[in-house]
Amino acid sequence: MTIVANKPEPIIYELSSPGRQGAALPSCDVPIARLPDHLMRDELKLPEVSEVDVVRHFTRLSQKNYCVDLGIYPLGSCTMKYNPKINEEAVKLSGFTAVHPYQSADEIQGALQLMYELQEMLGEICGLPGVTLQPAAGAQGELAGILIIHAYHKARKDTKRKKVIVPDSAHGTNPATSSMSGYQVVQVKSDARGNVDLDELRKLADDETVGLMLTNPNTLGLFEENIRAVCQIIHDAGGLVYGDGANLNAIVGVARPGDLGIDILHSNLHKTFSVPHGGGGPGAGAVMVRQDLARFLPGPIVAKRGKRYEFAMPRKSIGRVKSFYGNFLALVRAYVYIRSFGKEHLHEIAEDAVINANYLLARLKGVYAAPFGNRVCKHEFVLTGTPFAEKYGVHTLDIAKRIQDYGFYPPTIYFPLTVPECIMIEPTETESKKSLDEFADALLKIAEEARTNPQLLHDAPTTAPVTRLDDVKAARAPVLCYKG
Ligand SMILES: *Cc1c(COP(=O)(O)O)cnc(C)c1O
Repeated sequence: MTIVANKPEPIIYELSSPGRQGAALPSCDVPIARLPDHLMRDELKLPEVSEVDVVRHFTRLSQKNYCVDLGIYPLGSCTMKYNPKINEEAVKLSGFTAVHPYQSADEIQGALQLMYELQEMLGEICGLPGVTLQPAAGAQGELAGILIIHAYHKARKDTKRKKVIVPDSAHGTNPATSSMSGYQVVQVKSDARGNVDLDELRKLADDETVGLMLTNPNTLGLFEENIRAVCQIIHDAGGLVYGDGANLNAIVGVARPGDLGIDILHSNLHKTFSVPHGGGGPGAGAVMVRQDLARFLPGPIVAKRGKRYEFAMPRKSIGRVKSFYGNFLALVRAYVYIRSFGKEHLHEIAEDAVINANYLLARLKGVYAAPFGNRVCKHEFVLTGTPFAEKYGVHTLDIAKRIQDYGFYPPTIYFPLTVPECIMIEPTETESKKSLDEFADALLKIAEEARTNPQLLHDAPTTAPVTRLDDVKAARAPVLCYKG
Protein backbone atom coordinates (compact mmCIF):
# COMPACT_ATOMS: atom_id res chain seq x y z
CA MET A 1 0.00 0.00 0.00
CA THR A 2 1.41 3.38 -0.91
CA ILE A 3 0.17 6.20 1.22
CA VAL A 4 1.41 9.61 0.27
CA ALA A 5 0.73 12.25 2.85
CA ASN A 6 0.27 15.58 1.15
CA LYS A 7 1.18 17.62 4.14
CA PRO A 8 2.60 16.33 7.39
CA GLU A 9 -0.11 16.21 10.03
CA PRO A 10 0.68 16.23 13.73
CA ILE A 11 -0.01 12.77 15.09
CA ILE A 12 -1.26 12.61 18.62
CA TYR A 13 1.52 10.24 19.71
CA GLU A 14 4.13 12.63 18.43
CA LEU A 15 2.61 15.50 20.40
CA SER A 16 3.20 13.53 23.57
CA SER A 17 5.28 15.31 26.15
CA PRO A 18 6.20 13.59 29.44
CA GLY A 19 3.98 14.68 32.28
CA ARG A 20 1.42 16.52 30.19
CA GLN A 21 -2.14 15.75 31.27
CA GLY A 22 -5.64 16.25 29.93
CA ALA A 23 -7.56 15.70 33.13
CA ALA A 24 -7.52 17.54 36.45
CA LEU A 25 -8.80 15.23 39.15
CA PRO A 26 -9.49 16.37 42.72
CA SER A 27 -7.11 14.89 45.29
CA CYS A 28 -8.05 11.39 46.29
CA ASP A 29 -9.98 11.13 49.57
CA VAL A 30 -10.22 7.34 49.72
CA PRO A 31 -7.46 4.76 50.16
CA ILE A 32 -5.68 4.08 46.87
CA ALA A 33 -6.29 0.53 45.69
CA ARG A 34 -3.95 -1.29 43.35
CA LEU A 35 -5.44 -2.94 40.29
CA PRO A 36 -4.74 -6.65 39.95
CA ASP A 37 -1.33 -7.16 38.31
CA HIS A 38 -2.70 -8.99 35.28
CA LEU A 39 -4.64 -5.86 34.34
CA MET A 40 -1.55 -3.66 34.42
CA ARG A 41 0.60 -3.31 31.31
CA ASP A 42 3.89 -1.47 31.20
CA GLU A 43 4.20 -1.65 27.44
CA LEU A 44 0.97 0.30 26.91
CA LYS A 45 2.37 3.60 25.68
CA LEU A 46 -0.37 6.19 25.86
CA PRO A 47 0.33 9.70 24.61
CA GLU A 48 0.73 12.30 27.31
CA VAL A 49 -1.23 15.25 26.00
CA SER A 50 -3.34 18.13 27.22
CA GLU A 51 -7.09 18.52 26.76
CA VAL A 52 -6.68 20.97 23.91
CA ASP A 53 -4.25 18.61 22.13
CA VAL A 54 -6.92 15.92 22.21
CA VAL A 55 -9.70 18.23 21.08
CA ARG A 56 -7.61 19.50 18.15
CA HIS A 57 -6.60 15.96 17.21
CA PHE A 58 -10.19 14.76 16.96
CA THR A 59 -11.45 17.94 15.35
CA ARG A 60 -8.73 17.59 12.67
CA LEU A 61 -9.79 14.00 12.08
CA SER A 62 -13.48 14.93 11.86
CA GLN A 63 -12.68 17.49 9.17
CA LYS A 64 -11.18 14.80 6.98
CA ASN A 65 -14.52 13.06 6.93
CA TYR A 66 -16.95 14.08 4.21
CA CYS A 67 -20.55 14.09 5.31
CA VAL A 68 -23.97 15.04 3.98
CA ASP A 69 -23.99 18.04 6.34
CA LEU A 70 -21.14 19.42 4.18
CA GLY A 71 -22.41 18.76 0.69
CA ILE A 72 -24.09 16.53 -1.86
CA TYR A 73 -23.48 12.82 -1.25
CA PRO A 74 -24.60 11.24 -4.53
CA LEU A 75 -23.81 7.64 -3.60
CA GLY A 76 -26.19 5.68 -5.84
CA SER A 77 -28.45 3.09 -4.17
CA CYS A 78 -27.60 4.44 -0.71
CA THR A 79 -30.04 7.39 -0.51
CA MET A 80 -27.71 9.68 1.39
CA LYS A 81 -30.30 12.38 1.97
CA TYR A 82 -29.91 15.19 4.46
CA ASN A 83 -31.16 14.06 7.87
CA PRO A 84 -33.34 16.82 9.34
CA LYS A 85 -32.18 18.02 12.74
CA ILE A 86 -35.70 17.78 14.15
CA ASN A 87 -35.16 13.99 14.16
CA GLU A 88 -32.17 14.49 16.42
CA GLU A 89 -34.17 16.75 18.75
CA ALA A 90 -36.72 13.98 19.15
CA VAL A 91 -34.24 11.20 19.84
CA LYS A 92 -32.62 13.29 22.56
CA LEU A 93 -35.80 13.20 24.65
CA SER A 94 -35.08 11.27 27.83
CA GLY A 95 -38.32 9.31 27.44
CA PHE A 96 -36.65 7.68 24.43
CA THR A 97 -33.01 7.58 25.47
CA ALA A 98 -33.59 6.34 29.01
CA VAL A 99 -35.94 3.43 28.35
CA HIS A 100 -34.60 -0.02 29.05
CA PRO A 101 -35.59 -3.12 27.08
CA TYR A 102 -36.34 -5.00 30.31
CA GLN A 103 -38.91 -2.46 31.46
CA SER A 104 -42.49 -3.68 31.57
CA ALA A 105 -44.88 -2.66 28.81
CA ASP A 106 -46.86 -0.55 31.30
CA GLU A 107 -43.85 1.66 31.95
CA ILE A 108 -43.05 2.32 28.29
CA GLN A 109 -46.46 2.87 26.71
CA GLY A 110 -45.23 5.95 24.84
CA ALA A 111 -42.35 4.09 23.19
CA LEU A 112 -44.71 1.24 22.29
CA GLN A 113 -47.25 3.67 20.86
CA LEU A 114 -44.54 5.16 18.63
CA MET A 115 -43.55 1.71 17.37
CA TYR A 116 -47.18 0.74 16.81
CA GLU A 117 -47.93 3.90 14.85
CA LEU A 118 -44.76 3.47 12.80
CA GLN A 119 -45.85 -0.08 11.96
CA GLU A 120 -49.24 1.27 10.87
CA MET A 121 -47.74 4.06 8.76
CA LEU A 122 -45.26 1.75 7.02
CA GLY A 123 -48.01 -0.77 6.33
CA GLU A 124 -50.12 1.98 4.76
CA ILE A 125 -47.24 3.52 2.77
CA CYS A 126 -46.26 0.12 1.34
CA GLY A 127 -49.74 -1.35 0.91
CA LEU A 128 -48.66 -4.35 2.98
CA PRO A 129 -50.37 -4.35 6.38
CA GLY A 130 -48.24 -6.85 8.37
CA VAL A 131 -45.16 -5.09 9.76
CA THR A 132 -42.15 -5.97 11.90
CA LEU A 133 -39.60 -3.39 13.02
CA GLN A 134 -37.09 -5.95 14.28
CA PRO A 135 -34.47 -6.27 11.52
CA ALA A 136 -31.47 -3.98 11.97
CA ALA A 137 -30.72 -3.44 8.27
CA GLY A 138 -32.01 -4.00 4.78
CA ALA A 139 -29.93 -7.13 4.37
CA GLN A 140 -31.35 -8.54 7.61
CA GLY A 141 -34.86 -7.70 6.39
CA GLU A 142 -34.09 -9.69 3.25
CA LEU A 143 -33.04 -12.69 5.30
CA ALA A 144 -36.21 -12.41 7.42
CA GLY A 145 -38.25 -12.12 4.19
CA ILE A 146 -36.78 -15.23 2.61
CA LEU A 147 -37.30 -17.15 5.86
CA ILE A 148 -40.94 -16.00 5.83
CA ILE A 149 -41.31 -17.30 2.27
CA HIS A 150 -39.73 -20.56 3.41
CA ALA A 151 -42.24 -20.79 6.29
CA TYR A 152 -45.10 -20.03 3.88
CA HIS A 153 -44.23 -22.88 1.51
CA LYS A 154 -43.58 -25.22 4.41
CA ALA A 155 -46.99 -24.44 5.94
CA ARG A 156 -48.56 -25.44 2.61
CA LYS A 157 -46.45 -28.63 2.63
CA ASP A 158 -44.94 -27.46 -0.63
CA THR A 159 -41.40 -28.62 0.04
CA LYS A 160 -39.77 -29.25 -3.30
CA ARG A 161 -39.18 -25.57 -4.12
CA LYS A 162 -35.51 -24.67 -4.01
CA LYS A 163 -34.65 -21.83 -6.38
CA VAL A 164 -34.86 -18.09 -5.88
CA ILE A 165 -34.82 -15.99 -9.05
CA VAL A 166 -32.75 -12.81 -8.89
CA PRO A 167 -32.27 -10.27 -11.73
CA ASP A 168 -28.73 -9.72 -13.00
CA SER A 169 -28.84 -6.06 -11.90
CA ALA A 170 -29.58 -7.00 -8.25
CA HIS A 171 -27.70 -5.74 -5.23
CA GLY A 172 -25.23 -8.34 -3.92
CA THR A 173 -27.24 -8.84 -0.75
CA ASN A 174 -30.11 -10.46 -2.74
CA PRO A 175 -28.21 -13.54 -4.00
CA ALA A 176 -26.27 -13.62 -0.71
CA THR A 177 -29.52 -13.78 1.29
CA SER A 178 -30.98 -16.48 -0.90
CA SER A 179 -27.97 -18.72 -0.68
CA MET A 180 -27.63 -18.13 3.08
CA SER A 181 -31.16 -19.45 3.39
CA GLY A 182 -30.04 -22.67 1.71
CA TYR A 183 -31.68 -21.89 -1.62
CA GLN A 184 -30.23 -22.00 -5.07
CA VAL A 185 -29.88 -18.63 -6.83
CA VAL A 186 -30.96 -18.44 -10.45
CA GLN A 187 -30.23 -15.29 -12.41
CA VAL A 188 -32.74 -13.72 -14.79
CA LYS A 189 -31.42 -11.34 -17.44
CA SER A 190 -32.53 -7.78 -18.06
CA ASP A 191 -33.81 -6.77 -21.48
CA ALA A 192 -32.57 -3.89 -23.64
CA ARG A 193 -34.80 -1.40 -21.79
CA GLY A 194 -33.39 -2.46 -18.43
CA ASN A 195 -36.49 -4.40 -17.34
CA VAL A 196 -36.64 -8.04 -16.28
CA ASP A 197 -36.74 -10.07 -19.51
CA LEU A 198 -40.26 -11.56 -19.41
CA ASP A 199 -39.53 -14.45 -21.79
CA GLU A 200 -36.52 -15.47 -19.72
CA LEU A 201 -38.57 -15.20 -16.55
CA ARG A 202 -41.33 -17.41 -18.00
CA LYS A 203 -38.73 -20.06 -18.82
CA LEU A 204 -37.29 -19.98 -15.30
CA ALA A 205 -40.47 -19.84 -13.21
CA ASP A 206 -41.83 -23.28 -12.36
CA ASP A 207 -43.01 -25.44 -9.46
CA GLU A 208 -39.49 -25.41 -8.00
CA THR A 209 -39.48 -21.63 -7.74
CA VAL A 210 -39.46 -20.32 -4.17
CA GLY A 211 -39.90 -16.76 -5.36
CA LEU A 212 -38.33 -13.74 -6.99
CA MET A 213 -36.31 -10.99 -5.34
CA LEU A 214 -37.05 -7.78 -7.18
CA THR A 215 -35.84 -4.21 -6.68
CA ASN A 216 -38.24 -1.62 -8.07
CA PRO A 217 -37.15 0.85 -9.29
CA ASN A 218 -34.20 -1.37 -10.03
CA THR A 219 -30.56 -0.58 -9.43
CA LEU A 220 -30.35 1.08 -12.84
CA GLY A 221 -32.83 3.63 -11.49
CA LEU A 222 -35.55 2.36 -13.84
CA PHE A 223 -39.12 1.59 -12.91
CA GLU A 224 -39.92 -2.03 -13.76
CA GLU A 225 -42.38 -1.34 -16.57
CA ASN A 226 -43.87 -4.83 -16.51
CA ILE A 227 -44.06 -5.14 -12.74
CA ARG A 228 -47.62 -6.54 -12.78
CA ALA A 229 -46.72 -9.17 -15.41
CA VAL A 230 -43.52 -10.06 -13.54
CA CYS A 231 -45.44 -10.66 -10.30
CA GLN A 232 -48.14 -12.59 -12.17
CA ILE A 233 -45.60 -15.01 -13.68
CA ILE A 234 -44.16 -15.76 -10.24
CA HIS A 235 -47.58 -16.09 -8.59
CA ASP A 236 -48.79 -18.40 -11.37
CA ALA A 237 -45.79 -20.61 -10.64
CA GLY A 238 -46.77 -20.68 -6.95
CA GLY A 239 -43.90 -18.49 -5.77
CA LEU A 240 -43.87 -15.21 -3.84
CA VAL A 241 -42.37 -11.88 -4.84
CA TYR A 242 -39.89 -10.36 -2.42
CA GLY A 243 -39.43 -6.63 -2.96
CA ASP A 244 -36.06 -5.14 -2.09
CA GLY A 245 -37.36 -1.76 -0.92
CA ALA A 246 -33.99 0.01 -0.83
CA ASN A 247 -35.20 2.27 -3.64
CA LEU A 248 -38.53 3.13 -2.03
CA ASN A 249 -37.46 6.78 -2.03
CA ALA A 250 -38.35 6.92 -5.72
CA ILE A 251 -42.00 5.97 -5.21
CA VAL A 252 -42.83 6.71 -1.58
CA GLY A 253 -46.27 8.27 -1.32
CA VAL A 254 -46.87 7.80 -5.07
CA ALA A 255 -47.07 4.03 -5.64
CA ARG A 256 -47.50 1.22 -3.11
CA PRO A 257 -45.41 -1.93 -3.64
CA GLY A 258 -48.27 -4.08 -2.31
CA ASP A 259 -50.60 -2.67 -5.00
CA LEU A 260 -48.03 -3.55 -7.66
CA GLY A 261 -48.09 -7.25 -6.73
CA ILE A 262 -45.23 -7.49 -4.25
CA ASP A 263 -45.90 -9.83 -1.32
CA ILE A 264 -43.07 -8.96 1.06
CA LEU A 265 -40.91 -5.86 1.19
CA HIS A 266 -38.18 -4.49 3.37
CA SER A 267 -37.66 -0.79 3.74
CA ASN A 268 -34.26 0.54 4.71
CA LEU A 269 -35.61 3.17 7.09
CA HIS A 270 -32.11 4.66 7.19
CA LYS A 271 -32.37 5.37 3.47
CA THR A 272 -35.91 6.45 2.63
CA PHE A 273 -36.82 7.75 6.07
CA SER A 274 -33.69 9.71 6.89
CA VAL A 275 -31.72 7.96 9.58
CA PRO A 276 -28.00 8.77 9.39
CA HIS A 277 -26.15 5.82 7.95
CA GLY A 278 -22.81 4.72 6.65
CA GLY A 279 -19.98 3.11 8.52
CA GLY A 280 -22.07 0.13 9.43
CA GLY A 281 -25.16 1.36 11.23
CA PRO A 282 -27.21 1.43 13.32
CA GLY A 283 -29.93 1.03 10.72
CA ALA A 284 -33.43 -0.35 10.53
CA GLY A 285 -34.85 -2.75 7.95
CA ALA A 286 -38.56 -2.98 8.67
CA VAL A 287 -40.36 -5.80 6.83
CA MET A 288 -43.90 -5.42 5.48
CA VAL A 289 -46.03 -8.37 4.31
CA ARG A 290 -49.44 -9.26 2.89
CA GLN A 291 -52.06 -9.82 5.60
CA ASP A 292 -52.01 -13.64 5.26
CA LEU A 293 -48.23 -13.70 5.79
CA ALA A 294 -48.32 -11.59 8.99
CA ARG A 295 -48.47 -14.73 11.16
CA PHE A 296 -44.88 -15.61 10.07
CA LEU A 297 -43.30 -12.23 10.89
CA PRO A 298 -40.30 -12.10 13.21
CA GLY A 299 -41.28 -10.63 16.55
CA PRO A 300 -42.03 -9.38 18.97
CA ILE A 301 -44.13 -6.78 17.22
CA VAL A 302 -46.34 -4.20 18.94
CA ALA A 303 -50.06 -4.90 19.21
CA LYS A 304 -52.85 -2.72 20.56
CA ARG A 305 -55.49 -4.13 22.88
CA GLY A 306 -58.10 -1.47 23.66
CA LYS A 307 -56.00 1.52 24.68
CA ARG A 308 -53.00 -0.50 25.78
CA TYR A 309 -49.92 -1.32 23.69
CA GLU A 310 -48.06 -4.57 24.23
CA PHE A 311 -45.50 -6.82 22.64
CA ALA A 312 -46.86 -9.85 20.82
CA MET A 313 -45.29 -12.76 19.00
CA PRO A 314 -46.98 -13.56 15.66
CA ARG A 315 -48.64 -16.98 15.81
CA LYS A 316 -46.30 -18.83 13.44
CA SER A 317 -43.36 -16.44 13.77
CA ILE A 318 -40.05 -17.42 12.24
CA GLY A 319 -38.67 -16.20 15.60
CA ARG A 320 -36.49 -13.30 16.59
CA VAL A 321 -33.94 -11.94 14.16
CA LYS A 322 -32.43 -9.48 16.59
CA SER A 323 -32.17 -9.03 20.34
CA PHE A 324 -35.02 -7.05 21.84
CA TYR A 325 -37.00 -4.71 19.58
CA GLY A 326 -34.86 -3.41 16.72
CA ASN A 327 -32.75 -0.24 16.73
CA PHE A 328 -35.23 1.86 18.63
CA LEU A 329 -33.72 5.31 18.10
CA ALA A 330 -33.51 4.66 14.34
CA LEU A 331 -37.27 3.96 14.52
CA VAL A 332 -37.87 7.25 16.36
CA ARG A 333 -36.08 9.17 13.60
CA ALA A 334 -38.08 7.46 10.85
CA TYR A 335 -41.30 8.16 12.75
CA VAL A 336 -40.52 11.86 13.15
CA TYR A 337 -39.51 12.10 9.49
CA ILE A 338 -42.77 10.59 8.23
CA ARG A 339 -44.88 12.67 10.61
CA SER A 340 -43.08 15.88 9.63
CA PHE A 341 -44.28 15.39 6.03
CA GLY A 342 -47.66 13.93 6.87
CA LYS A 343 -49.86 11.91 4.60
CA GLU A 344 -50.55 14.87 2.29
CA HIS A 345 -46.93 15.72 1.56
CA LEU A 346 -45.09 12.39 1.61
CA HIS A 347 -45.26 12.08 -2.18
CA GLU A 348 -43.16 15.24 -2.54
CA ILE A 349 -40.13 13.25 -1.35
CA ALA A 350 -40.34 10.89 -4.33
CA GLU A 351 -41.29 13.60 -6.80
CA ASP A 352 -38.39 15.85 -5.86
CA ALA A 353 -35.94 12.93 -5.80
CA VAL A 354 -37.03 11.93 -9.31
CA ILE A 355 -36.91 15.49 -10.67
CA ASN A 356 -33.42 16.03 -9.23
CA ALA A 357 -32.11 12.80 -10.78
CA ASN A 358 -33.63 13.58 -14.18
CA TYR A 359 -32.22 17.11 -14.10
CA LEU A 360 -28.71 15.81 -13.46
CA LEU A 361 -29.12 13.12 -16.10
CA ALA A 362 -30.22 15.74 -18.64
CA ARG A 363 -27.21 17.91 -17.86
CA LEU A 364 -24.71 15.05 -18.13
CA LYS A 365 -25.97 12.72 -20.80
CA GLY A 366 -24.58 14.56 -23.83
CA VAL A 367 -21.07 14.32 -22.44
CA TYR A 368 -21.22 11.08 -20.47
CA ALA A 369 -22.69 7.98 -22.10
CA ALA A 370 -26.04 7.11 -20.49
CA PRO A 371 -26.96 3.53 -21.42
CA PHE A 372 -30.63 4.10 -20.49
CA GLY A 373 -30.69 7.82 -21.23
CA ASN A 374 -33.66 7.27 -23.54
CA ARG A 375 -35.84 6.52 -20.50
CA VAL A 376 -37.04 8.73 -17.69
CA CYS A 377 -35.08 7.67 -14.65
CA LYS A 378 -36.45 7.45 -11.14
CA HIS A 379 -34.40 8.63 -8.15
CA GLU A 380 -31.03 7.61 -9.63
CA PHE A 381 -29.39 6.82 -12.94
CA VAL A 382 -26.35 5.12 -14.39
CA LEU A 383 -23.66 6.39 -16.74
CA THR A 384 -20.85 4.41 -18.29
CA GLY A 385 -17.24 5.55 -18.48
CA THR A 386 -16.45 3.13 -21.31
CA PRO A 387 -15.96 5.81 -24.01
CA PHE A 388 -13.46 7.64 -21.76
CA ALA A 389 -11.62 4.38 -21.11
CA GLU A 390 -11.40 3.55 -24.80
CA LYS A 391 -10.45 7.03 -26.04
CA TYR A 392 -8.30 8.47 -23.26
CA GLY A 393 -7.38 5.54 -21.01
CA VAL A 394 -9.28 7.22 -18.20
CA HIS A 395 -11.36 4.87 -16.07
CA THR A 396 -14.41 5.38 -13.89
CA LEU A 397 -12.18 5.04 -10.83
CA ASP A 398 -10.07 8.00 -12.07
CA ILE A 399 -13.20 10.10 -12.57
CA ALA A 400 -14.49 9.23 -9.10
CA LYS A 401 -11.14 10.12 -7.52
CA ARG A 402 -11.02 13.42 -9.38
CA ILE A 403 -14.48 14.36 -8.08
CA GLN A 404 -12.94 14.48 -4.61
CA ASP A 405 -10.58 17.23 -5.75
CA TYR A 406 -13.65 19.31 -6.55
CA GLY A 407 -14.87 18.86 -2.99
CA PHE A 408 -17.64 16.33 -3.62
CA TYR A 409 -18.28 12.81 -2.48
CA PRO A 410 -18.04 10.47 -5.51
CA PRO A 411 -21.00 8.48 -6.79
CA THR A 412 -21.25 4.71 -6.52
CA ILE A 413 -18.94 3.09 -9.10
CA TYR A 414 -18.71 -0.33 -10.77
CA PHE A 415 -22.24 -1.20 -9.62
CA PRO A 416 -24.56 -2.54 -10.97
CA LEU A 417 -22.28 -5.13 -12.47
CA THR A 418 -24.28 -5.24 -15.71
CA VAL A 419 -23.03 -1.79 -16.76
CA PRO A 420 -19.29 -1.69 -17.58
CA GLU A 421 -17.33 1.21 -16.03
CA CYS A 422 -20.54 2.15 -14.25
CA ILE A 423 -21.10 5.50 -12.52
CA MET A 424 -24.30 5.51 -10.50
CA ILE A 425 -25.66 8.81 -9.28
CA GLU A 426 -28.41 9.42 -6.72
CA PRO A 427 -28.67 13.09 -5.79
CA THR A 428 -31.73 12.69 -3.47
CA GLU A 429 -34.49 15.26 -3.03
CA THR A 430 -32.67 17.35 -0.47
CA GLU A 431 -30.28 19.00 -2.96
CA SER A 432 -31.12 22.41 -4.40
CA LYS A 433 -30.76 23.27 -8.10
CA LYS A 434 -27.65 25.23 -7.19
CA SER A 435 -26.02 22.24 -5.55
CA LEU A 436 -27.00 19.97 -8.47
CA ASP A 437 -25.51 22.48 -10.90
CA GLU A 438 -22.24 22.69 -8.99
CA PHE A 439 -21.93 18.93 -9.04
CA ALA A 440 -22.83 18.71 -12.76
CA ASP A 441 -20.35 21.51 -13.58
CA ALA A 442 -17.58 19.57 -11.82
CA LEU A 443 -18.39 16.38 -13.73
CA LEU A 444 -18.43 18.26 -17.05
CA LYS A 445 -15.13 19.89 -16.22
CA ILE A 446 -13.66 16.49 -15.40
CA ALA A 447 -14.86 15.14 -18.76
CA GLU A 448 -12.98 18.03 -20.38
CA GLU A 449 -9.86 17.21 -18.36
CA ALA A 450 -10.09 13.59 -19.48
CA ARG A 451 -9.72 14.80 -23.04
CA THR A 452 -7.07 17.46 -22.48
CA ASN A 453 -5.03 16.30 -19.51
CA PRO A 454 -5.83 12.71 -18.51
CA GLN A 455 -2.83 12.59 -16.17
CA LEU A 456 -4.73 14.93 -13.82
CA LEU A 457 -7.29 12.19 -13.38
CA HIS A 458 -4.74 9.43 -12.96
CA ASP A 459 -3.05 11.43 -10.18
CA ALA A 460 -6.29 12.31 -8.35
CA PRO A 461 -7.11 12.92 -5.63
CA THR A 462 -4.48 15.54 -5.02
CA THR A 463 -6.23 17.34 -2.17
CA ALA A 464 -6.93 14.36 0.10
CA PRO A 465 -4.62 13.39 2.98
CA VAL A 466 -3.88 10.09 1.21
CA THR A 467 -4.06 9.43 -2.51
CA ARG A 468 -4.61 6.04 -4.15
CA LEU A 469 -4.81 3.09 -1.83
CA ASP A 470 -4.68 -0.57 -2.66
CA ASP A 471 -8.46 -0.95 -2.23
CA VAL A 472 -8.42 -4.67 -1.57
CA LYS A 473 -5.54 -4.53 0.89
CA ALA A 474 -7.08 -1.53 2.65
CA ALA A 475 -10.25 -3.57 3.25
CA ARG A 476 -8.59 -6.91 4.03
CA ALA A 477 -5.54 -5.80 5.97
CA PRO A 478 -6.29 -2.31 7.29
CA VAL A 479 -3.59 -0.64 9.35
CA LEU A 480 -5.53 0.56 12.37
CA CYS A 481 -2.76 1.11 14.90
CA TYR A 482 -0.15 3.79 14.98
CA LYS A 483 3.30 2.25 14.94
CA GLY A 484 5.73 5.08 15.58
C1 LIG B 1 -28.62 -0.65 0.55
C2 LIG B 1 -29.18 -1.76 -0.24
C3 LIG B 1 -29.35 -3.04 0.34
C4 LIG B 1 -28.82 -3.42 1.69
O1 LIG B 1 -29.31 -2.67 2.72
P1 LIG B 1 -28.54 -2.48 4.12
O2 LIG B 1 -29.48 -1.69 4.93
O3 LIG B 1 -27.26 -1.79 3.81
O4 LIG B 1 -28.30 -3.86 4.66
C5 LIG B 1 -29.99 -4.00 -0.43
N1 LIG B 1 -30.40 -3.74 -1.69
C6 LIG B 1 -30.22 -2.54 -2.27
C7 LIG B 1 -30.72 -2.32 -3.66
C8 LIG B 1 -29.60 -1.51 -1.57
O5 LIG B 1 -29.40 -0.32 -2.15
